[in-house]
Amino acid sequence: MGLDLTTYTMIVEELSRGWISISGVVNTHFIGSYLLMKFGTDEQKERLLPRMATGEIRAAFSLSEPELGSDVQAIKTSAKKLDDGAYEINGQKMWVTNGLMSGVVFVLVKTDKDAQPAHRGMTCFVCEKEPGAPENTGDYAGLTVPPKIKKMGYKGVESTELVFDGYRCPAEMILGGEAAGLNKGFGQMMDALEVGRVNVAARGVGIAQRALELALRYSQQRKTFGKPIAQHQAIQFKLADMATKIEAARLVTLKAARMKDAGERSDLEAGMAKLLASETGRECVEQSFRIHGGYGYSKEYEIERLYRDAPLLLIGEGTSEIQRMVIGKKLLERHRI
Ligand SMILES: Cc1cc2nc3c(=O)[nH]c(=O)nc-3n(C[C@H](O)[C@H](O)[C@H](O)COP(=O)(O)OP(=O)(O)OC[C@H]3O[C@@H](n4cnc5c(N)ncnc54)[C@H](O)[C@@H]3O)c2cc1C
Repeated sequence: MGLDLTTYTMIVEELSRGWISISGVVNTHFIGSYLLMKFGTDEQKERLLPRMATGEIRAAFSLSEPELGSDVQAIKTSAKKLDDGAYEINGQKMWVTNGLMSGVVFVLVKTDKDAQPAHRGMTCFVCEKEPGAPENTGDYAGLTVPPKIKKMGYKGVESTELVFDGYRCPAEMILGGEAAGLNKGFGQMMDALEVGRVNVAARGVGIAQRALELALRYSQQRKTFGKPIAQHQAIQFKLADMATKIEAARLVTLKAARMKDAGERSDLEAGMAKLLASETGRECVEQSFRIHGGYGYSKEYEIERLYRDAPLLLIGEGTSEIQRMVIGKKLLERHRI
């Protein structure tokens, strides 16, 4: 829709207040659209963006592999140039959101195994595929989607592996074109992840907000020792801490979004937002679960689902440890003596 990131952040918060699975599907598609809008050639944009905007095709992005997630530079999936100018991709990817139903996957692979540092030898390929097909054929032969990974929560989102075995990608489908995009994929993906982190932060705020609402309602209905549990100070303190942390997480998330909208580098702020909001989401869900007592453990209560959904936010788009590494590094860069 061409909205700014700040507006999008507010939409994601609201979607996540309802169901974070929906925001996961949308968010991954958004990252693909962002990559194309920012780095794509005119031909790539024309070929894909209109159909992506209407929802006719869904996007996925794929960095992680069975042996790596945080350490992106250790990617093993590789592409080699064939005599006819196309590239052949081989390797296995892991944890691909929208893996099966997507029609286009932005895949980061190694194109120069000797590059030092390794990130200078990585390229993002815009890989088209047949939505919903476990075995791709014809133009997309050589790409298999194994059965969906079974998960603890976040069940409305499909997470799959992708197996590339002789998949051919035309050189013009290197993100940004061969001349500009070859071996530039790492930087493109890191830029998109900054946006992705703001989105995950908004999801953390949304799920935390929902947990607080459920706690506010339940604590005024449930009575112990002759009064609603909301009238016990220990419960009020939990509610107060939840509301305060949610407000802080929301503000830092909006700040990161506004900076990106203004064209400023926001890696530090996006890292802070992702760290604070995802941890706040997890913490508020747990506090709300405690307030629900035994009923929180029952599938009849919404908090049970939130309890299984929230931990994903601590992992996706960079774990809390990785966010702290980004924040620490950027702080030292900005305050060099
Ligand atoms: C439901 C779901 C959906 C996902 N969707 C996608 C997707 O669409 N596309 C995609 O590419 N990936 C996706 N991922 C993968 C996700 O990005 C990775 O799981 C994440 O980056 C962590 O990588 P890892 O699982 O390999 O953990 P590892 O990198 O192996 O880390 C294991 C532990 O070690 C810690 N650690 C690692 N390095 C350090 C260090 N230097 N210092 C301190 N601690 C460290 C980590 O914080 C973590 O606690 C998804 C994951 C899940 C669960």
